[in-house]
Amino acid sequence: MEAVVVGCGVIGLTTAIRLREAGFRTRIVTKALPSETTSAVAAAVWYPYKAYPRDRVLGWSRATLDALCDLARDPAAGCSLLPLVDLFETPVPDPWWKGAVRSFRRATAADLPPGYADGYVIEAPLAEPPAFLPYLERRFRAAGGAIDVRPEGLTSLDELAADGRLVVNCTGLGAAALTGDDALYPIRGQVVRVTNPGLRRSLADEYGRRAISYIIPRAHDCILGGVAEAGVWDLTPDPAVTATILRRCRELEPRLRDAEVLDVRVGLRPGRPAVRLELERRGPRRAVLHNYGHGGAGFTLCWGCADEALALARAFAATL
Ligand SMILES: Cc1cc2nc3c(=O)[nH]c(=O)nc-3n(C[C@H](O)[C@H](O)[C@H](O)COP(=O)(O)OP(=O)(O)OC[C@H]3O[C@@H](n4cnc5c(N)ncnc54)[C@H](O)[C@@H]3O)c2cc1C
Repeated sequence: MEAVVVGCGVIGLTTAIRLREAGFRTRIVTKALPSETTSAVAAAVWYPYKAYPRDRVLGWSRATLDALCDLARDPAAGCSLLPLVDLFETPVPDPWWKGAVRSFRRATAADLPPGYADGYVIEAPLAEPPAFLPYLERRFRAAGGAIDVRPEGLTSLDELAADGRLVVNCTGLGAAALTGDDALYPIRGQVVRVTNPGLRRSLADEYGRRAISYIIPRAHDCILGGVAEAGVWDLTPDPAVTATILRRCRELEPRLRDAEVLDVRVGLRPGRPAVRLELERRGPRRAVLHNYGHGGAGFTLCWGCADEALALARAFAATL
């Protein structure tokens, strides 16, 4: 059966790989290649952040964690495992997503920067977009997949509809205009990319006085964040936000004091009250499979969602 995946961010690529490797004749149609997507701006560490609903997110995150741990053994994939310390100023219960991770422990005093009273330490997969996205693209092409770039973008998914063909909508925030989905909204993020002074663990403060702050050391740089501004479409970096990010992250990790700023990036997370992963029938032999709205967790959910998308595609194919 033929499948056309629309979108070439982390969700489109992983979905297209699952379909192609399962035998669907799959191609990707996209406005922009991976390096020009929101996915390219992400850190991207495994963490179920601003994605819903929790019960489905838990299953997708667990499946994705397993897949990323496997990929961490392949040097070509750009994936690794790194300790992540989640910081809190007051004692907190275990997180709702604890069941999704393999290694979890409560932080000890030795793990916590001054001013923090509690925390969790997990072994978190990191899927660095500069290496991971090209790896996904190579893997898709090696399986026989083709990528058709249309810089003007599609104005309707009907442009691709045909009997016996599955159209797979992985357009992230682009789905708002493409499908008229007014539940989708941007959650603006801004990150500062700096040189890595030798850090080997990630730190995150989501609720404390430095919220939100995160430090994600990677192979060739270190990502410092951030902000999560719901409803803001502006892609221009804000110098005041950059200064705040640098100040907070240097307070958290003084070794960042002399780190050189490489660049500042802005991306719009595709926010939605619930990830949309479902098959929409558009006739006896036509359907659109939607897979978008992953908020701040596209890398955290990608393989789990791709597995479920494949199951939905197979169920549709079986009805033809
Ligand atoms: C600053 C920041 C940090 C983040 N950090 C993390 C992190 O550490 N971990 C994590 O899991 N997530 C993180 N995220 C979230 C993550 O980046 C997103 O959830 C993810 O990138 C969404 O992927 P996507 O493939 O759905 O969308 P995108 O990457 O936006 O891709 C959408 C694709 O659809 C195409 N498209 C759109 N409209 C059309 C159209 N009309 N016609 C044709 N093609 C179209 C685009 O060209 C693109 O190829 C972060 C996000 C930001 C902004």
